[in-house]
Amino acid sequence: MSEFDLIKRYFTRDTPGALLGVGDDAALLQPSADRVLAVSSDMLVCGTHFYADADPYLLGHKTLAVNLSDLAAMGAVPRWATLAIAMPGADEVWLEKFSAGFFALAGAHGVELVGGDTTRGPLNLCVTIFGEVQAAQALRRGGAQADDEIWVSGEPGNAALALAHLQGRVVLPGDDFSVCAPALYQPQPRVALGLALLGLASSAIDVSDGLLGDLGHILAASGVGAAVEYAAIPVSDTLRRYPQLEKQCVLSGGDDYELCFTVPASRHDAVLRISKQLGLPLTRIGRIVAGHGCCIYDAAGNPINPESGGYDHFR
Ligand code: ADP
Ligand code: MG
Repeated sequence: MSEFDLIKRYFTRDTPGALLGVGDDAALLQPSADRVLAVSSDMLVCGTHFYADADPYLLGHKTLAVNLSDLAAMGAVPRWATLAIAMPGADEVWLEKFSAGFFALAGAHGVELVGGDTTRGPLNLCVTIFGEVQAAQALRRGGAQADDEIWVSGEPGNAALALAHLQGRVVLPGDDFSVCAPALYQPQPRVALGLALLGLASSAIDVSDGLLGDLGHILAASGVGAAVEYAAIPVSDTLRRYPQLEKQCVLSGGDDYELCFTVPASRHDAVLRISKQLGLPLTRIGRIVAGHGCCIYDAAGNPINPESGGYDHFR
């Protein structure tokens, strides 16, 4: 199968929301009136972000999900994506499943694939995603202020527990693995949450590299510090059964793609209403303080020293 047949068969769909989609030298895209583009790229590299035998359907999902998560953290409406893919050969079974997983999630979020690049090489998947948002409303990292509340969605740490199992650092019985595996293999980007937080959150970030590390980016960008109560962080029943890994997974485990955000304390109840509306647990885990850095306290109010920061490819 030629490169062009491959693109046509697996990566070309109708794109009614684009002036021009796949097939020319560039796509033509028009954001809505008074919106600006929110643009982000994320790459998944075989051996670094997933294993060669990863389920291609789930990989297609995750390739787009990690990008949607970045738009969620900006409060942007996802519109379009491009996909640059390097692969060792044209494995049609693999391509069929990969594109099915990709387009299933794209369809669920109204995202159109409008272009990309296809080349032979070690398996490598890179999506650039384009969303739109009112410039003044976008959720940035730099808006947190002293006394704001710090919130997190979902139950961070499950993806890291599943990864620990795959890496042989813990042996999970099948039931426990099947509870955690979806967080790792099929993260659900919190796009609806990001949109609901427009005009409400003072800052937001998606948790891709670990709660502490990512919250640290908000603190650095905002020029503030944080006090986090470990006991307030929601931990899944499954993860609680592995106390030797729990803190590390919750605080430093990446890959959950939940949102961490700050909100003025006066808007506490509004966040609870959003949680109810979306059917998504949202939990206040601490507050922003003057100063810098993040202190974590146990239930007795004593500081906890986390073992490491977030994931860093070059550390
Ligand atoms: P060019 O050589 O002009 O860069 P390509 O041959 O790389 O064009 O691609 C042809 C068309 O197919 C372009 O519109 C490009 O955006 C699109 N395309 C290539 N690879 C992909 C892909 N994996 N997914 C979606 N569109 C793709
Ligand atoms: Mg090209």
